[in-house]
Amino acid sequence: MNEPLVIIRDLRLQFRTYAGIVHALNGIDLEIYEQDVLGLVGETGCGKSMTGLCILGLVPRGGEIVSGSIGFRGEDLLTKPESYMQQVRGAKIAMVFQDPSTSLNPLFTIGQQIETVMKRHQQADKTQMHERALELLKVVELPDPARIMDTYPHELSGGMKQRASIAIALSCGADLLIADEPTTDLDVTVQAQILDLLRRLREAQGVAILMITHDLAVVAETCQRVAVLYAGQVVESGPVDEVLYEAKHPYTRALLEASPKRSSRGKTLQAIPGTVPSGLRPLEGCAFSPRCPRAMEVCAQPPPRVAVTPAHAVYCYLYADSEE
Ligand code: SF4
Repeated sequence: MNEPLVIIRDLRLQFRTYAGIVHALNGIDLEIYEQDVLGLVGETGCGKSMTGLCILGLVPRGGEIVSGSIGFRGEDLLTKPESYMQQVRGAKIAMVFQDPSTSLNPLFTIGQQIETVMKRHQQADKTQMHERALELLKVVELPDPARIMDTYPHELSGGMKQRASIAIALSCGADLLIADEPTTDLDVTVQAQILDLLRRLREAQGVAILMITHDLAVVAETCQRVAVLYAGQVVESGPVDEVLYEAKHPYTRALLEASPKRSSRGKTLQAIPGTVPSGLRPLEGCAFSPRCPRAMEVCAQPPPRVAVTPAHAVYCYLYADSEE
């Protein structure tokens, strides 16, 4: 295992709303290692995207991080001023969004957008930036990079736009790429191509990737490790092979049963009964207990972290006795 690049501890995020305080993240603990691909998976609203935005220091309006730390190469980003985070964003940590149509600026060519990011973070003359932009378009395997440089986003297909977004994200040599549902809006063939590209970029560029997704198939195909989120907490984490194929937490198992890929061999899709808890109440005990078929009285208390193997952890009372 490589050295940790990011270490998140007890991250808690709240929003003030007219209805009251919404508890969006309830003590996230995560590590992302150098050159790691970590999948962050869970249902809509479980806190996946908010975790990514917190790492970038882009908490949406009304939100407040009330506790925790986000260590990045040993520095706690939560103690840094906005001027520091502006240097981190793009240069050290970059983001690829779900919909490249909204993340790309329709008024500028792809070449201008790559060079704008480079100008902000690097000292290079115009020719060097142009050469580097061309090189990046080759790296993301866009055909005819010289033509793409002068192309506006609306002239590209969805898959080409996402490749251009990845080129922009890589333009300053970031150590961490946060990819938030990067293939959700693409058709299946293009999805596979973009995932394959991200996988190869990790190997070739040595960039770590936080892959935010609701799709377990994307995790299985792309990631080395996975963290399963429920109600703003990590409930299980570890190597993909262990978590997806020997899942321990009842929520992870329910997610797998609800996954179309897994149920395709003649099995029926199993919906997860019940609904996610309202974020308006602070969590007491295990957040999954109202939906858990194996809930016990003790589950009214916060579940312990249990090490299944040195790299695989689950937060559940079912395994509490198995620890030394
Ligand atoms: Fe179910 Fe209890 Fe485990 Fe929560 S701690 S998942 S309620 S058994």
